[in-house]
Amino acid sequence: MGEFELIARHFARAAPAGGPVVLGVGDDCALLQPTPGHQLAVSTDMLVEGRHFFAGAEPEALGHKALAVNLSDLAAMGARPLGFTLALALPAADEAWLAPFARGLFALADAHHCPLVGGDTTRGPLTLSLTVFGEVRPGRALRRDAARAGDELWLSGRTGEARLALALRRGEPWARGELAVVQDRMDRPTPRLALGQALAATEGVRAALDLSDGLLGDLDHILQASGLGAEIDAAALPVAPALRDLDEAHRLDCLLAGGDDYELLFTADPSAHAAVLAAGAGAGVAVTRIGRLRAAPGWRVLDALGRDLTIRARGFDHFA
Ligand code: ADP
Ligand code: MG
Repeated sequence: MGEFELIARHFARAAPAGGPVVLGVGDDCALLQPTPGHQLAVSTDMLVEGRHFFAGAEPEALGHKALAVNLSDLAAMGARPLGFTLALALPAADEAWLAPFARGLFALADAHHCPLVGGDTTRGPLTLSLTVFGEVRPGRALRRDAARAGDELWLSGRTGEARLALALRRGEPWARGELAVVQDRMDRPTPRLALGQALAATEGVRAALDLSDGLLGDLDHILQASGLGAEIDAAALPVAPALRDLDEAHRLDCLLAGGDDYELLFTADPSAHAAVLAAGAGAGVAVTRIGRLRAAPGWRVLDALGRDLTIRARGFDHFA
């Protein structure tokens, strides 16, 4: 199977007519037509074998995850997906890998009306680089630099299960529980697109990002960009049943520094509290107020009595 046959067989699918894709796979460029007056939101994420996923990872789940982590960035901006491109380096044109990979990829793409519009295919160590294109109303994007002191800090869903799945896979001695209960949280994350768009349309919602490297480390990006600090109420953090059997220190590590969560962390004016809850209900995702933004820089994690907790772990940094 040559490069062009591979593309034709697995990736060249006609984009739905009448949507934003005027021209999809097959020409020198794709042509996209955003809604007039909207801004383009663009994001790229790369997944490298051995670094972001295990060698031999199930290809269908990989197809899902490669797109999910990119869609999660659009969600965090409050953008609506228009389409995506796929740059693929493959060690071999392996039919048994390509078919399930494309199945996982397109299942999620179809679910979010985000067609594949182009890409590049080359031989090399397995690497997946996707670029997603979305649109957002001017002034409504949920930027990291938009938080204000006094904002409430909110979290969608719950954190930590993907980290526990990783620990169970690696056989880390502290990890307890069944991999089957948590593995989808690591392998098949759910991009919170409906929630992100609802939040962007909600008056008083300010900054947001998606959690990929751990709650505290990612929170720091909002704090740096906005020039603020934050307090987190440890007792307010939602705890998945699978995390309840862990000792408290490791549970906190999972909740606050786990990584691979792909939940939204966002800030909103306290006057928007009810509207944020309504946005969560409308999107079918639990949203929890977990703390607040402060003018004093840095973050603190407080126990139920308001005392500082000592936190060991920090977010993940590929070059740390
Ligand atoms: P070019 O030589 O202009 O880079 P290619 O021969 O690489 O074009 O690709 C031919 C067409 O197939 C282009 O429209 C390109 O966007 C698309 N394409 C290539 N690889 C992929 C892929 N992995 N997924 C989707 N479309 C792809
Ligand atoms: Mg090319």
